[in-house]
Amino acid sequence: MTKWSKRTNQIHAGTRRSQYGEVSEAIFLTQGFVYDTAEQAEARFVALGEDEFIYARYGNPTVRMFEERIAALEGAEDAFATASGMAAVNAALMSICRAGDHVVSSRALFGSCLYILEEIMVRYGVEVTFVDGNNLDEWAAAIRPDTKVVFCESVSNPTLDVIDLKSVADLAHKADALFVVDNVFATPVFSRAIEHGADVVIYSTTKHIDGQGRCLGGVVLGTQDFIRKTLEPYLKHTGGAMSPFNAWVMLKGIETIDLRVRAQADTAATLATALQDNPKIANVIYPGLSSHPQHDLAMQMTGSGGTMIAFDIAGGQEGAFRFLNALELITITNNLGDSKTLITHPGTTTHSRLSDEQKATNGITPGLVRLSVGLEDPADILADVENALKNV
Ligand SMILES: *Cc1c(COP(=O)(O)O)cnc(C)c1O
Repeated sequence: MTKWSKRTNQIHAGTRRSQYGEVSEAIFLTQGFVYDTAEQAEARFVALGEDEFIYARYGNPTVRMFEERIAALEGAEDAFATASGMAAVNAALMSICRAGDHVVSSRALFGSCLYILEEIMVRYGVEVTFVDGNNLDEWAAAIRPDTKVVFCESVSNPTLDVIDLKSVADLAHKADALFVVDNVFATPVFSRAIEHGADVVIYSTTKHIDGQGRCLGGVVLGTQDFIRKTLEPYLKHTGGAMSPFNAWVMLKGIETIDLRVRAQADTAATLATALQDNPKIANVIYPGLSSHPQHDLAMQMTGSGGTMIAFDIAGGQEGAFRFLNALELITITNNLGDSKTLITHPGTTTHSRLSDEQKATNGITPGLVRLSVGLEDPADILADVENALKNV
């Protein structure tokens, strides 16, 4: 950990320079590393020194720079970068749990997170109990002495439920369970997840960390003990490592993340406020609005409403599709956290796998759209939304 602040760490932390003294971090596009002697190779397989590498599935200098930079930003002891956000979620959960273990998770989750818990973990004999993430009594009732992992998305995708991390962490720790938090929507800029009791924090770096829609990536952050003794053996043998090229893109992304995400959140707040009273919208969901059920909690935990807005278009799916098809500037896609403003209809895309009943309990109504606010002029984004709403 360094003595500098978050904003400084995001520019400098983790930097390693080669013999050429380059300013911008080098891309070490190499799978392997040579040894001077057979004895040196043997020694490296016994224990790795600080700047020693064996094979890029285990680690790589560019990837290591990214891991140290994001760890410094998050205030975590260590990190392991993965090929995608889902590789990170899968590795974190599968590396901790074994047959017979019990997991408690909030119900409002990204479709693929739900798939891992509901379909994959269960196949290997792990019991999973789902709760309403905003109901502390349900968490307390579900967590048992044999609970190994407590899991949630700190701000859920796409309905923006905000979880009280401190209270859930206390319940998890009373049962000696690890509290694993998918923190994508909170972003590393606004996150204080570790301070609030998360043991393991996960990002899809595909989102705000790249921030420009180029590469897939993920990262798992935690104590050095957890990352090296529990996670690393699983990941290095199952092959979920991040590519050095993608790690370089992520390093460059982190350098500007504070400026980007704060500007995106400012615009999101402006849009949410402006759209609140629009007659074509049944409900605007934005943690920064006082109408959001966990508004106070969101502001205490992260100090921001974030970069994502969800709203329910009057006229259900037909109304939502008319609205999406009339947009001129905002693009229809399923990514988020990009510098471009992006829109998704979760019910028919990212969350289409859910049954109608699951959609209903998770608040994924037919008219719901999810807006990822970008870096364009806020007035242009608002004009595009308001204009398209006229077609509903
Ligand atoms: C996108 C996303 C993921 C998955 O990340 P990928 O990089 O697409 O694999 C996981 N959790 C949440 C909350 C996400 O938004």
